[in-house]
Amino acid sequence: ARQFFVGGNFKMNGDIKKIKEIVQHLNEAKLDDNVEVVISPPTLYLLLAREHLRSGLEVAAQNVFDKPDGAFTGEISVKQLQDSGITWTILGHSERRVILQEQDIFVASKTKAALDGGLGVILCCGESLEEREQNKTIEVVTRQLKAVADKISDWSKVVIAYEPIWAIGTGKVATTEQAQEVHAAIREWLKKEVSSEAAEKTRILYGGSVTEKNSGELAKQPDIDGFLVGGASLKPAFVEIINSKS
Ligand code: 13P
Repeated sequence: ARQFFVGGNFKMNGDIKKIKEIVQHLNEAKLDDNVEVVISPPTLYLLLAREHLRSGLEVAAQNVFDKPDGAFTGEISVKQLQDSGITWTILGHSERRVILQEQDIFVASKTKAALDGGLGVILCCGESLEEREQNKTIEVVTRQLKAVADKISDWSKVVIAYEPIWAIGTGKVATTEQAQEVHAAIREWLKKEVSSEAAEKTRILYGGSVTEKNSGELAKQPDIDGFLVGGASLKPAFVEIINSKS
């Protein structure tokens, strides 16, 4: 069975006080031992979170660069994350794909660099509303994943996050059926394009307006192995989302 995974993507939110509060709340909470929990504060607070968060809970960057070092103003490297005890990175979030114009191939190159350096990768994919309305959801998601599959063969440290763009920050969560359908299609794609083992073992998270109110139903779906939570990860109820299987 795949271990349930819940990530908290704080995006560009929080300050020292708030990050400390969230971390303290998680440290003191009764969390389901069977769930892998990873929080992703803004870069500036990664070390702060790592220093205060109890062991067993992990910290993820929201992005990383694909070169080892050098003249790359504003970027951070895989090694620098490792050095700071940061064991995961999110990559390919739609906000970076759309607002920062990251291309599939760049996301793939960063995924390869992160994995080669020993980080786990929460690889995001997902379609826009327009693409969904044109019935292009599976095409878009598999195109995004294929760019990565062209560069890596070992998916054991990759967690896929399916995040339909129209559901992010909108309060418009995908229905359990909509989410399950895409998750199953991604698993089918993994089986065909990567391996049966990758299909069986790779966690596929759902992201987009997840709250403690809808997480229980979503978590029951056979191909939903956890969540990547935005807004609700900044709130105390994040604990309920983590515990939505128990
Ligand atoms: P919300 O949970 O705020 O909709 O954000 C989802 C997301 O983008 C997580 O990466």
